[in-house]
Amino acid sequence: MQNFTFHPGPRLVSGAGSATRLAKHLPDGPCLFVTDREVVALGLTDACRATLGEVIVFDTVEPDPSKETLLAAVEAGRAAGATSVVGFGGGSPMDVAKLAAYLLGSGDDVDAIWGVGLATGRHLPLALVPTTAGTGSEATPVAVMTCEGGEKRGVNSPALIADWAALDASLTIGMPRALTAATGIDAIVHAIEAFTSARTKNPLSDLYAIEALRLLSTNLLTACAAPADLAARSAMLFGAHLAGLAFANAPVAGVHALAYPLGGLHHLPHGLSNALMLRHVLQHNQEAAREEYATLAQVLEPGCAGQGSQMQCALFIDRLAALVIASGLAPRLRDHGISQADIPTLAREAMKQQRLLVNNPCAIDEADARRLYEAAW
Ligand SMILES: [Zn+2]
Repeated sequence: MQNFTFHPGPRLVSGAGSATRLAKHLPDGPCLFVTDREVVALGLTDACRATLGEVIVFDTVEPDPSKETLLAAVEAGRAAGATSVVGFGGGSPMDVAKLAAYLLGSGDDVDAIWGVGLATGRHLPLALVPTTAGTGSEATPVAVMTCEGGEKRGVNSPALIADWAALDASLTIGMPRALTAATGIDAIVHAIEAFTSARTKNPLSDLYAIEALRLLSTNLLTACAAPADLAARSAMLFGAHLAGLAFANAPVAGVHALAYPLGGLHHLPHGLSNALMLRHVLQHNQEAAREEYATLAQVLEPGCAGQGSQMQCALFIDRLAALVIASGLAPRLRDHGISQADIPTLAREAMKQQRLLVNNPCAIDEADARRLYEAAW
């Protein structure tokens, strides 16, 4: 049997009202509750907060959260003597919660732990509640912050994995269509990049990635067109979680590396950034990842099983490009305010994402990155 390690992720509670069942798993004492104002205004946090006793609400997390925001959350938790942390919302509040729980528990300095495996201390007891179906952050050991100069820096360490996650699809019903589409495509990219991850993909991460892609690709357009369809929302939330578990063990790669500068420099949402780069990075990878893409094509279209791998690979890329368009996202960089003059800077910034680029099935250098942004423009 292949040598591999697999982290199973947080313990789960799922179903309607599951976030209200987290309290009994957390210690007594003040709970640092990390969220954003929109999630609070929608009333999504009310039932969970009511079960938690003393709560310090930190609701000023912005999209692409900054290191300053993280440090303010840590300070709020420290001042109140927090004994646990809950992250409630999309990827941004969850990422801030993960790092805040770690910094509060370990006493480490955040600037000493950027990168892979450098966070080795213990976090405060931590529970996460996703309200989008996309980032899978509730499943993963990764948290990404926007640092000086717009650079995205990440911490990737098992010490960031939450103790508990609650999957309640009813919390995702109110997501607007564009967010449903972008976060859904992000989750699909997680599944694909995990399945082709160059270094640590393994039979379990493959299993999760395939089931994630099946659930996400069959339910995305229903979730976009019929936002209150709870069955589709549940499939998307579970699919995003499985994709998170897959890439927690087999990290994402080139699509994400090229997507991050679009968020860091131009503030495009993370899922949209991935959707814009998906087709072009897959085309760049298609020789190196042909067998994997051919396998995944059969998940999108079981009827193509008898075709050769080259045809399956082409069909895979076409189907995903069509899915991005059918979800309603405008598919080109120029549709989102990026100018051609921005491309050299984007390519230079993408080269800083070596922690991701090393997972790509083939190399992407700066000239490749420029060409891929041009193709996406
Ligand atoms: Zn992502």
